[in-house]
Amino acid sequence: MKIGIMGGTFDPIHIGHLLLGEFAFEEFKLDEIWFLPNGNPPHKDTEEMDTSLTHRIEMVKAAISGSPHFKLSMHEAKKGISYTYRTMRDFHELYPGNEFYFILGADSLFSIEQWKYFKEIFPTCTILAAMRDDKDVGDMQKQIAYLKKKYEADIELLRAPLLEISSTTIRERAAKGLTVHYFVPDAVADYIKEHHLYKEVDQ
Ligand code: ATP
Ligand code: MG
Repeated sequence: MKIGIMGGTFDPIHIGHLLLGEFAFEEFKLDEIWFLPNGNPPHKDTEEMDTSLTHRIEMVKAAISGSPHFKLSMHEAKKGISYTYRTMRDFHELYPGNEFYFILGADSLFSIEQWKYFKEIFPTCTILAAMRDDKDVGDMQKQIAYLKKKYEADIELLRAPLLEISSTTIRERAAKGLTVHYFVPDAVADYIKEHHLYKEVDQ
């Protein structure tokens, strides 16, 4: 099987993440997309700032429930930092005989050399990188060529609609009492409302 991995904090999951998964599925003829919520990322390490892992997982579940080829992976859903290379290695061990495609946005592609043990990721998967923010096709192709040459990385440009949406924006909107409808699936908007999430956030 060809499996796409969509990792993220998903605080909350939004239509940007979901469309990336859907376009990767279509364009690269993948069989499944696994959404992989992280535990506590280093940049969000205080209790109040990190929406509890349970909420983030429940929102992923709500967002993907209608799609048979979208699955939830709990592999990184634990306290502490998970390294992508380790997860990918684990996946090869646990689910042998599959090809893995790691899906990410331009911000991640341009900061990947700052990830710990990033070089270890490249042999484990094909990276599918989507445009985001101010990065255009030319910028993407340059960075892809650079990483390919320097690290023998296998990276493809993932063409998906450019959406100026981030979880940060959504948290800010919710904190101000503005609607988050249409940024996230209805079930996620309902979940945020019901659990009074992001009320205190002003980042
Ligand atoms: P935050 O604002 O909290 O950082 P985020 O919207 O960036 O949230 P993450 O969970 O950090 O979401 O992102 C997970 C992955 O999804 C990253 O690789 C990121 O680049 C990608 N991604 C998120 N939103 C978009 C988007 N609108 N377009 C393209 N890629 C995106
Ligand atoms: Mg982000």
